Amino acid sequence: MPRVVLSRKDPQPVKVTPARIREVAAGSAAAKAGVEAGWELLTVNDQPIPDVLAYRRELQAGAAELRVRAPAGDETTFAVAWEEPGLEFDDVIFDGIRLCANHCDFCYIHQMPKGMRKSLYIMDDDFRTSFLYGSFVTLTNLREGDVQRILDEHLSPLYVSVHTANEAKRAELMKWWPNKVATEEALSVRNMIERLESIELYTQMVLVPGRNDGDYLDETLDYLASRPNVLAAAAVPVGLTGHRSHLVALEPYTQEQAADVIARVHAFQQRMLAERGTRFVFASDEFYIRAGLPLPDDEAYEGYTMLENGVGMVRDFLSAGVPVLPERLERPRRVLIATGRLFAPVLRESLRSLDGVEGLHLEVRAITNRTFGEVTTVAGLLAGRDILGGVRPGEADLLLLSPNMFKYGTETMLDDLTRSDLQAELGMRIAVGGTNLAELVDTVLTGEVHDHLPSFGFSTHAIKEAAKQH
Ligand code: SF4
Repeated sequence: MPRVVLSRKDPQPVKVTPARIREVAAGSAAAKAGVEAGWELLTVNDQPIPDVLAYRRELQAGAAELRVRAPAGDETTFAVAWEEPGLEFDDVIFDGIRLCANHCDFCYIHQMPKGMRKSLYIMDDDFRTSFLYGSFVTLTNLREGDVQRILDEHLSPLYVSVHTANEAKRAELMKWWPNKVATEEALSVRNMIERLESIELYTQMVLVPGRNDGDYLDETLDYLASRPNVLAAAAVPVGLTGHRSHLVALEPYTQEQAADVIARVHAFQQRMLAERGTRFVFASDEFYIRAGLPLPDDEAYEGYTMLENGVGMVRDFLSAGVPVLPERLERPRRVLIATGRLFAPVLRESLRSLDGVEGLHLEVRAITNRTFGEVTTVAGLLAGRDILGGVRPGEADLLLLSPNMFKYGTETMLDDLTRSDLQAELGMRIAVGGTNLAELVDTVLTGEVHDHLPSFGFSTHAIKEAAKQH
């Protein structure tokens, strides 16, 4: 029987959700109490613990009694007073990720190819991961208790997918499921932004050509800028794949449409700079590249606060510049850089000066995405099989890939192929090409790979920017 206790937040009983303990620190209070990895945390101070935030909250009270359970089922308690119990957990959310209540026309998960790792299909819309990791949430699945909790625990900042502040247009785009929505109140984005007035919000608008751009975009920016708790807004274009046959027909941005978005964003930036000294709204790199317009300068990104949303990543990457180049390489080298079709022309142009280095044969190749479809052009959504499809065995001495093709902290790509798999298949050295242009050039010239693990991966950047556009 699951243990049931009363939550401090809700009058109804809340089921205890055990949190699996991954590690116990040597010498800690937990270790002294005999707790081992593989046990479960049940309650703290008799309260159910749905996530690490609640765990931290209970510990902050000072004295805490933790109830834990061994794999055989024996339960025990131990106490701490102003000290770390010494527990590490498998997850940060113990009671299950909160799923979205929507069925957005532009949902990337609905257009994912089959056969990818299961976690990529989770329709995560959890305010807790928004606070912990900066993932964007729609707020439409919030219950009154959640709103109270966000305010009481000051879970700030949060990252909110607004899309449009025109409520009718938002409903039309997001098509929430009535049976999954807890309160009518949560369906009004203006209402939620105003209820959360003590919480700082970073916002994004996934723009769909002819749907929520144009005058709707102006209206949305006017509204967001009027709310003191909204710190910034990002405009990102809808991400499309080739797996949309059963979905609402959507088209990618044309050059002209992208230029219109940029013009509106720039006009609003000028107004905000004059009124507030900040640009407030930023367009993603993809809009500039699609529009064929130059990327803004470094300072125009004001510290790159929306970097992981694809806003300023290219400028940030390029800003380190190309170091001083040698006239020739001591030993000739063939280097191939494989990237997405969107970024390839920009990178090619940035590396143009390397053409004059004697002994270096360098090619930047745009890889077609056969996994998601040709319409998907970002590097972060290229799978291992796409690289295999676009590179011939042995055609280079060194193949360089973008860090964001790999899962965070690993050498695993979207389709579970690893860098070693690709190396074996292609018979050449393969490395991560560096996190900025200077590092990349250094690797190209010396052949020495920095080989740091990806700084971001499809669990964060690629999914957020292109795949999980809540
Ligand atoms: S885009 Fe996000 S919020 Fe919309 S349906 Fe997909 S997972 Fe849900």
